[in-house]
Amino acid sequence: MPIFEYKCKHCGKVFECLVRKHDIPACPDCGSQDLTKLMSRFATNVRKGSGSQSSCGTCSGGTCSTCRG
Ligand SMILES: [Zn+2]
Repeated sequence: MPIFEYKCKHCGKVFECLVRKHDIPACPDCGSQDLTKLMSRFATNVRKGSGSQSSCGTCSGGTCSTCRG
């Protein structure tokens, strides 16, 4: 699930929020929705730590639907 990091423009609070596609998060401190979206740590880590990127474990060539998914 995507977790995004936001910074509140109103009070400067930085917080992480699990956001669905059309949800607009609000600052937990002041309730403002005037937010700056920061880089998601989830997105930068998603491909790391899974060993070889050419294999998903159910195939050996990185060509199955699990690899590409
Ligand atoms: Zn705030």
